[in-house]
Amino acid sequence: MLKHTGIISAEELKAVLPPSVRLEKGPVAIIECLQDIPCDPCVSACPVNAIKMQQGITDRPQLDFETCTGCGACVPKCPGLAIFIVNLKHAPGMATLTLSYEMLPLPEKGHEVTALDRSGRVVGKAKVLRLINPAAYDRTAVVTIEVPADRINDIRAIRV
Ligand code: SF4
Ligand code: SF4
Repeated sequence: MLKHTGIISAEELKAVLPPSVRLEKGPVAIIECLQDIPCDPCVSACPVNAIKMQQGITDRPQLDFETCTGCGACVPKCPGLAIFIVNLKHAPGMATLTLSYEMLPLPEKGHEVTALDRSGRVVGKAKVLRLINPAAYDRTAVVTIEVPADRINDIRAIRV
């Protein structure tokens, strides 16, 4: 489990994944934040109030999948790099994954990067579709990559 290994378990992941009916509608966030830590910038980052913390700042964020538009505004605001946007409607057999990236060099649009799982193991190659890195993101770039749809829940990092 996350608390002991630093890596979310399959059971924990299941609890934060959107239902398949929501995934079929298009982009949506997945928040892999399972620790009761005093942190909440994701809440105020969301323009549609899809993220809530019922018990205050140490509560875990609860995402309303139906309200979430998949806009990605919360992604660069998470200091834990724990928020991802998945889009299973990208293309037949292919999905997109949007994630934070704080290393250098930054990837470039159109380039191929190495897709990694949560342990840093290589999953395969991925094409960079988009990079957003405005000053307001404070050096947390947001990268969107194209990945096989059947690996969307495995890939959670990249190596440039
Ligand atoms: S992706 Fe956009 S709508 Fe969804 S939780 Fe994040 S900020 Fe809110
Ligand atoms: S900003 Fe990130 S680490 Fe902080 S509560 Fe939200 S999801 Fe968790």
